[in-house]
Amino acid sequence: WKHAPAHFRALLEMSRFHGDKVFLVYEDEHLTFEDHFRRAATLATRLVEEYGVTKGDRVAVAMRNYPEWVVSFSAALVAGAVAVPLNAWWTETELAYGVRDSGAKVLIADGERAARLAATGVPMIVTRGAAPAGARAFDEVMGEVTADAKLPDVELAPHDPATIFYTSGTTGSPKGALGSHRNLGQSPMTIAYGLMRATVLAGQDAGAAAGVRRVSLLTVPLFHVTGCFSAMTSTMFGGGCLVLMYKWDPEQALRLIERERVTAMVGVPTNAWQLMSHPDFGKYDLSSLTTLGYGGAPAPPKLLERIATNLPNRAPSNGYGMTETSALAIGNGGADYLARPESIGVPSPVVDVRVVDPAGADLPSGEVGELCVRGPNVILGYWNKPEATARTFVDGWLHTGDLAKIDEEGFVYIVDRAKDMVIRGGENVYCAEVEAALFEHPAVDDVAVIGVPHEELGEEVGAVIRLAPGASVTAEELRTFLSGRIAKFKIPVHVWFRDAELPRNPGGKILKTHLRREILGNP
Ligand code: ATP
Ligand code: MG
Repeated sequence: WKHAPAHFRALLEMSRFHGDKVFLVYEDEHLTFEDHFRRAATLATRLVEEYGVTKGDRVAVAMRNYPEWVVSFSAALVAGAVAVPLNAWWTETELAYGVRDSGAKVLIADGERAARLAATGVPMIVTRGAAPAGARAFDEVMGEVTADAKLPDVELAPHDPATIFYTSGTTGSPKGALGSHRNLGQSPMTIAYGLMRATVLAGQDAGAAAGVRRVSLLTVPLFHVTGCFSAMTSTMFGGGCLVLMYKWDPEQALRLIERERVTAMVGVPTNAWQLMSHPDFGKYDLSSLTTLGYGGAPAPPKLLERIATNLPNRAPSNGYGMTETSALAIGNGGADYLARPESIGVPSPVVDVRVVDPAGADLPSGEVGELCVRGPNVILGYWNKPEATARTFVDGWLHTGDLAKIDEEGFVYIVDRAKDMVIRGGENVYCAEVEAALFEHPAVDDVAVIGVPHEELGEEVGAVIRLAPGASVTAEELRTFLSGRIAKFKIPVHVWFRDAELPRNPGGKILKTHLRREILGNP
């Protein structure tokens, strides 16, 4: 099994063939593939020899998008451990939960996270900041990194657990998604196929695109699957370069695209939107950029129009995925995407999809039901949650909790999250549909539709709106605008305008529970 590509060790060993090419860029720091390999091998050896890490132990990583994140993740995996990326935005209490829930044996953290993790008492390795009492500095643990650094001798098989990523917690508390080595191993293949497809369908020369060294700007955190699975593993495999940002900042992104000659932006729809909305957008040279890949949250069709206007002749693509599908499962790109901007596209060639009714029976095409996914990208289950695992993974099919329909040609449309739907007097109102219709109005910069409790109807439709800079519109004008577009019962009765940005999690999803609490008190 040692060289079977269905595990991370094979991916890392292969990445060494990219040698002196730059793999990671962070501000003025550059790490080549060889540097990365040596560091990961050295840290893995220290984890085994000095921290007693054995196969299956959990090693948590809690940092911002620093190069050490990637080194630590790689090291944990080739040491045979299960890597547990913790959300860097989490508070002390949330981080303590992640450490306790995963049962991590060692923590690798940046200074800011280290301070928040100190009370857990778990052995800790600290980079970029002071190590609390009892913890050791990253560089000291690494010691000398030499050319003959070797990977620990651990036998890894495709179905061995490799990762615990926490879901982003949009619908409740985050669940630990237990991913396998095969989930990681298949990722570059899925991503490469999706990219090639978007490139071909955008009328670009796919052969030339394959020959161009991809420089990807990562606009989302590595501790979510888009960053790690989609961007990191495919860059490692393909020999591209990954440009990291401490946090999302549209001006910084514009600067980096120009400076690093970025060819691909990888993130969530909001990133692309905010990049184009920046007042200095036109001042930067973005000619290197050929693809814009986003996903993980609904992408309003208006985004595609804005890309066509502001960044013409690029290949935009929208990917659907979940933590439970190790990122990308279904994707739309190029001409297909232009023709069907509301669709998330077609499944990756190795993924099966179906839409079922509440009893689990298949629905005919065009009908709305729960989307189910099966394939080598689907995780093993939830960590320490047998009941949730049994509910969600049934006969090999992952029940996504998303409502969808599939058309005659096989294009998938996400209608809404099952939990996000507003039920008004027995009629289903899909928030995503109302949001997309509101987005069509030029004054609307951002919007979230929520259910508002109503005595008689159960729920009424409400919309929280952030206006575009300098724009003005009344609730009544918006309702008139909507009346030609969506049915009357879907038109928001309550409209709230706000100046502040809508609260979003690092995965770009609007935190509707926060909004509801803020606006409606404790519903
Ligand atoms: P939790 O499961 O903890 O509530 P979450 O589902 O938001 O959080 P993720 O795994 O990060 O955690 O997100 C997956 C979800 O994101 C999907 O189930 C779907 O609702 C949404 N999503 C992902 N990609 C797209 C897309 N391209 N279009 C619309 N929705 C998407
Ligand atoms: Mg989910």
